[in-house]
Amino acid sequence: MSKAPATERARLTPVGQESPDLLQDSVVVTRMDEVVNWGRKNSLWPIPFGTACCAIEFMGSVSSVYDISRFGAELVRFSPRQADLMIVAGTVTYKMAPILKRIYDQMCDPKWIVAMGVCASSGGFYDNYCTLQGIDKIIPVDYYIAGCPPRPESILQAIVDLQGRLSRSKA
Ligand code: SF4
Repeated sequence: MSKAPATERARLTPVGQESPDLLQDSVVVTRMDEVVNWGRKNSLWPIPFGTACCAIEFMGSVSSVYDISRFGAELVRFSPRQADLMIVAGTVTYKMAPILKRIYDQMCDPKWIVAMGVCASSGGFYDNYCTLQGIDKIIPVDYYIAGCPPRPESILQAIVDLQGRLSRSKA
């Protein structure tokens, strides 16, 4: 005779008389860290800080072709209050640097920062009087993406890597 589904058995069994195997089917045991990190890693909300050509590649990554939503990161926000993943895509000049810092400060914790492309990572070939030589001079960076410009696949790889790191972190 086949067993009734676990939910049906749970409905028919008087409270306090559940058999151990029934409990095994109905109870999930985990740690708080796992639950919180599971939610965080699957619902990253990016805010793009796009200043130059790299921003166009970021647009490609949210298009239907590359489909960033497969990784739960499709809710692009333009308010730092609603975002937890900043993607700095492009050259940052000294004039823009205080604005980047202010937007970073306005994001709630926990937050993650991606430097996309060589310009954001190190100034790239703009080694001149007006260009910030890497955004890590003013804000902490969690992930650097190489390339000029990096392809959308690199952005997806960054998100997957960050998710892996996130799931191992303390919530
Ligand atoms: S890294 Fe290359 S593509 Fe990206 S902003 Fe700099 S010059 Fe443009």
